[in-house]
Amino acid sequence: MTDGRYLRHSAIDWFTQDALKAARIAVIGAGAVGNEVMKNLALLGVGIIDVFDPDTIEEHNLTRSVLFRDSDIGQTKASVAAQRVQELDPGVRANAYVGDFWKTLTFDLLNATTTIFCCVDNFEARIRCNTLAYLAKKDLVVVGLDSRYGSVELFPFGSGQQGGCYECALPPSVYQKISKRYSCGWLKKASFIEGKIPTTIITASAASSVAVSLGLRFGGATEAQSAKILIDTIAGTSSRNTVGINPECPCCQRLPETARLLASDRLIVDEKLALDAEIAIEASEPILVSYTVDGSETIVWESASKFDDTFPATISERPDDVILDIRDHFTLGEIVGRFSGRSMPCKFLVCRTEPPLIVEMRGGNA
Ligand SMILES: [Zn+2]
Repeated sequence: MTDGRYLRHSAIDWFTQDALKAARIAVIGAGAVGNEVMKNLALLGVGIIDVFDPDTIEEHNLTRSVLFRDSDIGQTKASVAAQRVQELDPGVRANAYVGDFWKTLTFDLLNATTTIFCCVDNFEARIRCNTLAYLAKKDLVVVGLDSRYGSVELFPFGSGQQGGCYECALPPSVYQKISKRYSCGWLKKASFIEGKIPTTIITASAASSVAVSLGLRFGGATEAQSAKILIDTIAGTSSRNTVGINPECPCCQRLPETARLLASDRLIVDEKLALDAEIAIEASEPILVSYTVDGSETIVWESASKFDDTFPATISERPDDVILDIRDHFTLGEIVGRFSGRSMPCKFLVCRTEPPLIVEMRGGNA
């Protein structure tokens, strides 16, 4: 393809226009980095961009978001970004998914995806991007920023990856930082105020250009080694380090390496078990199973993320005496025996069968 629009691309030796046109890229987060990544992908002529973001545009976003205008304030970031990149190149198809990608990025969509660009601003969402990319064996690029540095992390899960995953390289301080948002028992602290990282378009555009350049080379001549590139926009230097496997990693050392991805309705049906009732089942996120007051247990069976640490005070005048059962480990027999007729309140289940199964929960509310 060497039509007029892509004339200057035709002599580039590291990609073909047809390969870009055939690519389907997921961009998680349509903030400063997501804007830059999408702009680059669209101008290069990528075929399909799926963008995921739950938020609306605020005035302070306008200093770092090339796709947003004053008149867009109050509209959803994903929808406006999708519309604008199609204006940049009408040949690009852009689909907006407004909401939490943990719910909207389904296994079917993951399977159709070529590469995932993780452009979010917090560790919990990056950990979830990493989990999905690792399970679906899709190439992953994670971009992070502060006021001086841009970081680009490459995980070629779909291209014969060697080395670690995103969580392999996370220092314990990150988990400590995440745990500060929670009281004991995985309920969010209602009083927690999230700190905002100071950034400018300078680190966002520098890191995003490198991210797209390297992300589009997956599967090519680039080595398949997981790597982290750190760009210092003040000194003008950059460094590249490989990411090794961490034997303690909570993602790649816990989740099965070769699991089948399936989907099932989330409604739990009380039927004769075809499988061993003792099979261990792990939920993708903690579930508030029940609370017990004065020896009397009440089933809740909802995602623990729906509650915060004010919950015990809403059910008893003596909140310290409320016993919460919050878990992500079950047996198949317990789930079917205790919770049939209810919905499974998580994104997926890890079933420790032989071989292991990863089952996405579909339909109803999580
Ligand atoms: Zn890992």
